[in-house]
Amino acid sequence: MTSLNFYNTLSRSKEPFEPLDASHIRIYACGPTVYDRIHVGNARPVVLFDVLVRLLRHHYDRVTYVRNITDVDDKINARAAEEGVSIRALTEGTTNAFHEDCAALGSARPDVEPRATDHIDDMITMITTLIDKGHAYAAEGHVLFSVTSMADYGQLSRRSLDELIAGARVDVAPFKRDPSDFVLWKPSGEDQPGWDSPWGYGRPGWHIECSAMSAAFLGETFDIHAGGLDLIFPHHENEIAQSRCAHGHDIMAKTWMHNGYVTVDGEKMSKSLGNFTTVADVLADHKGEAIRYALLTAHYRAPLDFSINGVVEAKSALDTLYRAAEGATAAAEPDEHVLAALGDDLNTPNALARLHELARMANKGDDAAKSALKASAELLGLLCEDCSIWFKGDGGDDAAIDAAIAARQTAKANKDFAEADRIRDDLAAEGILLEDSPEGTIWRRK
Ligand SMILES: [Zn+2]
Repeated sequence: MTSLNFYNTLSRSKEPFEPLDASHIRIYACGPTVYDRIHVGNARPVVLFDVLVRLLRHHYDRVTYVRNITDVDDKINARAAEEGVSIRALTEGTTNAFHEDCAALGSARPDVEPRATDHIDDMITMITTLIDKGHAYAAEGHVLFSVTSMADYGQLSRRSLDELIAGARVDVAPFKRDPSDFVLWKPSGEDQPGWDSPWGYGRPGWHIECSAMSAAFLGETFDIHAGGLDLIFPHHENEIAQSRCAHGHDIMAKTWMHNGYVTVDGEKMSKSLGNFTTVADVLADHKGEAIRYALLTAHYRAPLDFSINGVVEAKSALDTLYRAAEGATAAAEPDEHVLAALGDDLNTPNALARLHELARMANKGDDAAKSALKASAELLGLLCEDCSIWFKGDGGDDAAIDAAIAARQTAKANKDFAEADRIRDDLAAEGILLEDSPEGTIWRRK
């Protein structure tokens, strides 16, 4: 069996993956805050960690993948008020849209997808434990985590307490004992979502959600915690502080994996910069599998510069692979080089390069390579469509092509071969190739 090695942000080094319990691998990834459609930057971890989970499932019999839905957040409150809809209606609509986008990208649903609002009791219990253990305090309807109560706070982001204090906002809330203390619970006004708690009517801070939900489904310690690079500080640092102090362990997750940013002309794609493209917008003209492929062309820890041209190139690369694998039955095992590439800190660019090598071998008549290509592509969540459906496409002009083919048949039946040839040439000029067979004429895009 090829070994698995992943870069661990906690140690800043690539380490052999050694599960806490090899009979049950447990992984958590931070999910979306459901106030709007996701953009391509948000889609990157969805696709990358789907590949990671597929790889883990190949190596281990039992894997539990948890990805939460943050459905209580000030951005959600603001958006619901703006649109004049209830918070529940907004979060349900956006969650459904998120699921549609994930499915179009070929990413399987996680085993568990908890909603934060279903776990408020777990959060209240955890906050109570933190207060009891002297790691948190209530003040003016808030509960704050006391950063100075944790001797080794800051291990993940490697920030010293002095740096944290210097970096804290100048207008520190007066009820904070220390400027770097962070919110576990905050009071809600009448028009805000809230729950009764020992500290009054209020709602949880964002960080405590993931600590409570990961513990609920994966236990106090687990194997991998994943998310985007921008979550290292403060979100993941604070998750670690809460979970370790509440449960009394040296670790929360053993391995912390972080994906790099999606950039546009070198700048991070983000809602705040306004340089984002939603997944739904790209899907209007391009296949989800092409977006998926494009997102796998860079190593996950490196930045990925996104462009529509990149998606077009990805489609063309996939066309090559689909043609080479046409009619293949997947081999029982993926190719060992593909497994080795993915096992080497999820090196998807090397895995894709190997798929193209296998395609070249398949095109020369190597049937074993063809079967290995199919099995290996499936490990990456690629080549999952039927070849004829892939090439036929699902564009709106299919009906027009079918009509042109019918007109050509009529011309042939009338022995008007010049007209039949003209229709064929016109279609060819548009990149539509016709193949006549005893069963009729089939077409595909060049
Ligand atoms: Zn989280």
